[in-house]
Amino acid sequence: MSQRVLPPSAEIAWHSLPVSEALSRIESASSGLAIDEAARRLKDVGPNVIQRAKGDSALKLLFRQINDPLIYVLLASAALAMIMGEAIDGSVVLAVVVLNTAIGFVQELRAGKAIEALAGMVPQSATVVRGGERSVIPAADVVPGDVVVLEAGDKVPADARLLSVKNLHVDESALTGESVPSDKHIDVVQEDAGVGDRKNLAFGGTLVTSGTATAVVIATGGGTELGRISSMLHEATEIETPLTRSMAKVGRVLTIAIVAVALLIVGVALLRGYPPVDAMLAGISLAVAAIPEGLPAIITISLAIGVQRMARRRAVIRKLPAVETLGSTGVICSDKTGTLTRNEMTVRALWTAPSGGAGGEEDGQPLEVTGVGYAPIGELRRGGAPVGEVPEAVRALLRAGLLCNDARMKREGDACGVEGDPTEGALVVAAQKLGVDAEATRREYPRLDAVPFSSERQLMATLHEAPGGERVIFMKGAPEAVLGRVTLGEAERARAMAQVEQMAAQGMRVLAAAARPFGRDAASLDEEHLAEGFELLGLEGMIDPPRPEAIDAIKACHEAGITVKMITGDHLATARAIGEQLGLVRDSARAMNGTELARLSDDELRAAARSTNVFARVAPEHKLRLVRALQAEGKVVAMTGDGVNDAPALKQADIGVAMGITGTAVSKESADVVLTDDNFASIRAAVEEGRRVYDNLVKALAFVLPTNLGEALILLVAVMTFPIIGGAPLMPITAVQILWVNLVATVALSLPLAFEAMEKDVMSRPPRDPSEPILSRFVLVRTAIVAVLMTAGAIGLFLYEYFTEVRDGIVSEVAYREAQTAAVTTVVLFQIFYVLNCRSLRDSMVKIGIFSNRWIYVGIGALLALQLCFVYAPFMHTLFGSAPLSLGAWINSTLVALTILPVMSVERWWRLRRARRSTERERGGAASSDVGAIVNRGGASPSHP
Ligand code: ATP
Repeated sequence: MSQRVLPPSAEIAWHSLPVSEALSRIESASSGLAIDEAARRLKDVGPNVIQRAKGDSALKLLFRQINDPLIYVLLASAALAMIMGEAIDGSVVLAVVVLNTAIGFVQELRAGKAIEALAGMVPQSATVVRGGERSVIPAADVVPGDVVVLEAGDKVPADARLLSVKNLHVDESALTGESVPSDKHIDVVQEDAGVGDRKNLAFGGTLVTSGTATAVVIATGGGTELGRISSMLHEATEIETPLTRSMAKVGRVLTIAIVAVALLIVGVALLRGYPPVDAMLAGISLAVAAIPEGLPAIITISLAIGVQRMARRRAVIRKLPAVETLGSTGVICSDKTGTLTRNEMTVRALWTAPSGGAGGEEDGQPLEVTGVGYAPIGELRRGGAPVGEVPEAVRALLRAGLLCNDARMKREGDACGVEGDPTEGALVVAAQKLGVDAEATRREYPRLDAVPFSSERQLMATLHEAPGGERVIFMKGAPEAVLGRVTLGEAERARAMAQVEQMAAQGMRVLAAAARPFGRDAASLDEEHLAEGFELLGLEGMIDPPRPEAIDAIKACHEAGITVKMITGDHLATARAIGEQLGLVRDSARAMNGTELARLSDDELRAAARSTNVFARVAPEHKLRLVRALQAEGKVVAMTGDGVNDAPALKQADIGVAMGITGTAVSKESADVVLTDDNFASIRAAVEEGRRVYDNLVKALAFVLPTNLGEALILLVAVMTFPIIGGAPLMPITAVQILWVNLVATVALSLPLAFEAMEKDVMSRPPRDPSEPILSRFVLVRTAIVAVLMTAGAIGLFLYEYFTEVRDGIVSEVAYREAQTAAVTTVVLFQIFYVLNCRSLRDSMVKIGIFSNRWIYVGIGALLALQLCFVYAPFMHTLFGSAPLSLGAWINSTLVALTILPVMSVERWWRLRRARRSTERERGGAASSDVGAIVNRGGASPSHP
């Protein structure tokens, strides 16, 4: 047997074979493979995975580093310097390019890997029938011959021949590009039919949009249709985001400006009588000094760090732009069940219909069921007192709930759990608790057919053979849906509705159950059989407590100026009660029903969306309208979803959030973020990380831009105003020295900022206005102040050191070099003190914890060691024209560099004061568009509906 090789699937036209023949060719049966046979086949054919084409090749990545106008300017400068015989200058410029490309390349490669790894973090599973039993297995373990069960929302795990279908529609756009779902059947198809016409096959990687089916797998992994075209697939490792794109644009504008200023400098220098070579060098140095070479790498690294931290906090990013969009999220629309609540349903109340005879309706009070969780331990009580024997009407209600059900109880050691939908699990547990044995009842009433639950229909029905041989349909679902199909007098209907309201007001999810006798020979069930004629059996009310961490997370969101809206398929009263427990419905009752929502015009909906926090009985298409309405209000909207029909809303939302555990494959494919724990608290964590990423980018900018501008200004001032002595222009810092600063200081100090810890007020300020430019007033003001101070300090110190060495009207070569070295050292020390001021946008270093980011000190340590080399190592003297400094010169440089600290303190004080004033002015109003103001408006509690 182990030598048996399955027929090569590609050579067989499976679509032209009848079901039975397909099954026998693949050596399987409708009851599936035996478990050990499946294991053997897995060993033979390997896992069901497609080796995807890698994101970007290393070469392409390298090219992307170099393909940047700023780099072109640098390369041209290097070539020019070489041509003019300035070999050292040329080589140093080249070294800048090579080093920056290398750093950028390595970092982006790592970032790309981190992002690629995300794809593997969202588990893919498949439901198979093996040895006659259904089980859920990792999709990678599916083998040829496996019988798979497909349901709406599933991703087809491998190519398969359909065995049975019910209203099956499959979205095959991943394969054929055809966006209209394909209608499937099981009949034989002509042998020469194209892929899109093979209606009796389901292809791996396509998505089931509606219906159910069983199918036998004919090919897995690379043998599938999708596997064969996998080289054409592109994994979502896109490393571009709106931010990187807008930065690239800024970069282009900057390049043009820098080149223009550099040319201007060359002109001025020539006019002032510079030797042509010196004039050219001045221009080149200026270009190199002003270009923020490290910036693209910093942005990519910040985003990648954000992605990794979010994944650790259970939010897996599927689309990179989400990392930055998350930071400006203004509204989060969340599902209730499982996300805000625990999804541990427990039946607490039972009520049987009057016509059912004895029941709990006598005093109008439902019967209570004790016990929580999935352990089948509990009893029936009325008004707190145990009910001795469970009445027959109650047993009939429990039986219906148990049979019209796909969930199973399972025991793992001492723990009890359920497999399947928790709502259904609760019904199984309740029956078991009160003595209606699940196994025995299922044997007594074998199931013949089923109409599965759908959120639109809000009910499920099953057809059974009763012990006497007659057939019966059981139905369960939302009370409104079920009551519309039962025969009931007006008064009785009103009493039933009152019971529903009463249970729902306590936050319970209420399900109604009904039954209807069916023709003796009927074997299949269709939608039309469910229209009417049912007898109401009763109601089951179940609790599903809020997650405590969701309550905390909602509070945190409110403090962060983020509105949280709950969207649920549940009853209005249930939703309102849970909304109150979660802190969503407060002063006035802001809860609305889906039917009401459907009637509103777009404008009315916008108004309603503003003031309503709880939406009940919401259909998926309402979600889409709601997202649009909120977006029309200028909000950045995050929306959760788990079902097939949530896909459009997830795509429309700025941040589509899917559920990793309970979500359908369809919803995960459409989402930007997948929560691996389905928990609302993880959305809050992701928003927090998103804000941090953005803050750190602003910090990096606030560091890099001023220092680059400062370096350029030093040259500019010198060329324009410094004297030309003996034919040689006096320069405070030479061209290669500027390159040195640029090469080591800027990179060593700016990269660590990407690791900076979260600002203390990160979740106590309003969301960032998405239209706010990254080059905000804050960054621009900082750039101006710091650049001017740095220029004044470096030039001032140079002049001081230079003129104190004047002897008899001349300065020795060594003294000149010493003065230049002192100026370079001042700039480096200045950057060291300044980077400490960039660590927080709001607080002083002492407040954020001096050692909270050790990378900063690694950077500073490395830089100081290199600078010591620069000052004292003889080969550096040759390369850069530096000279050893005296202790006095070091002290002077340090004192000058230290001036940045008080200046920054004043800047911060002024900025905070301004922000406070503007908050006071517009308290309750819209956010300002100034990063500085927003960043520093901490403490002020923003208003939210
Ligand atoms: P939320 O949006 O809070 O996550 P939901 O999406 O789970 O809620 P639905 O699953 O659409 O809401 O359920 C809507 C209603 O349908 C429920 O209030 C309940 O009455 C009924 N219902 C839920 N699950 C089932 C089921 N398996 N069988 C029959 N009826 C169900």
